[in-house]
Amino acid sequence: MSLLFSDRESPLFPIPLHVGRPNIGSREAIHRHIDEILDRRWLSNEGPVVLELERRLADYVGVKHCLTVCNATIGLEIAYRVTELSGEVIVPSNTFAATVHALHWQGIKPVFCDIDPMTHNLDVGSVEACITDKTTGIVGVHLWGRPCPVHDLQRLADRLGLKLIFDAAHAFGCSLGGQMIGGFGDAEVFSFHATKFMNCGEGGAIATNDDDLAALIRQTRSFGFQGCDRIVRVGTNGKMNEFSAAVGLSSMDSIDEFIQVNSSNYRGYREALADIPGVEVLAYDEQERNNFQYIVVDVDEQQSPLTRDQWLQVLHADNVLARRYFYPGMHRAEPYQSLDPFAAKRLPVTDAVLRRILVLPTGTAVGSQEIELIGKIFQQATVHASMLKRQLPSTLVLPTAPLVPVSPGYRKAA
Ligand SMILES: *Cc1c(COP(=O)(O)O)cnc(C)c1O
Repeated sequence: MSLLFSDRESPLFPIPLHVGRPNIGSREAIHRHIDEILDRRWLSNEGPVVLELERRLADYVGVKHCLTVCNATIGLEIAYRVTELSGEVIVPSNTFAATVHALHWQGIKPVFCDIDPMTHNLDVGSVEACITDKTTGIVGVHLWGRPCPVHDLQRLADRLGLKLIFDAAHAFGCSLGGQMIGGFGDAEVFSFHATKFMNCGEGGAIATNDDDLAALIRQTRSFGFQGCDRIVRVGTNGKMNEFSAAVGLSSMDSIDEFIQVNSSNYRGYREALADIPGVEVLAYDEQERNNFQYIVVDVDEQQSPLTRDQWLQVLHADNVLARRYFYPGMHRAEPYQSLDPFAAKRLPVTDAVLRRILVLPTGTAVGSQEIELIGKIFQQATVHASMLKRQLPSTLVLPTAPLVPVSPGYRKAA
């Protein structure tokens, strides 16, 4: 029930507006590909559609190899394994669970380090402060598609002999210094999950310029097979199937349109929220290529009429299902909280940022009319702020999870 529009029985949006509703390419193209796949009876195992998608991706990103996988989580596990990460790896805490879980799943200890308050990405000084003699690598996340300090991280990694991997799940189609994300570090991992900018339903890709690494990735995503009967290493099943690749190809056909819609939504939001005090839509560097897939609102509670969590409640009441990505941070998620209960001490900026962020719906399912109405919600809430502040709790605290026994996994190794 709307908190603002009391003349209304129902929320302003009768149908919920989700963050990350899929961008869908040409239906006809998908149908045509699927007919061809069925005629060919070739459904998986490096089929022609997967190979075509890999060529298209590598061309687009300007990288030598862009190897598809069934999802980015498996892609990260494979990337961690083929670069021989072990012991401890430095990683941010304000990321999706998969970045961190994939480390733990490989028996590696994630060591959370702090971020830059402006970019929300790894802070190189904090990375360096977290390095021990057990550290083997750094995993950066190009959060919201905005690049990590790639060159500084590479210099640090080179100096200390560390591997450098990027979780580029948000950053397909984005650039740094005019060079597309995908070609940095030892490898970069894209996600093509349904909610991402370019999607395959489920899917991902590992990008690298290293031929040997690419060969290892190919083997590892296919059980460790070399050729037909010969198994030469431990592998998993990380292959993308032909149907997902068909959805991916149609997404690639429509990629310019997705960017156009997202960038016009971004401009629409910047305008619609320009006059709300303490509320700012995070900017993208317009000198670079961006996919504009994340409308990230930063709430400064000193200036804003409502707290971040009150904005969340107001928006949800009208069916705008904004999200607090990635609150409360992976250092507060199990098993990491139990394994490193004092991690928050080193993460003051991470904690502060996690308390300020709201992500709003965009993508091709959202247009200027919706954004105008969302702007109205913000304006009306600003007018009625004192009433709302009396009505709504200022913070929505997550119920504390019971302490569950955690698997000893990497504890033994450490
Ligand atoms: C979505 C996401 C992933 C996981 O991608 P999947 O393809 O769903 O496995 C990893 N890291 C980040 C930052 C993500 O947003």
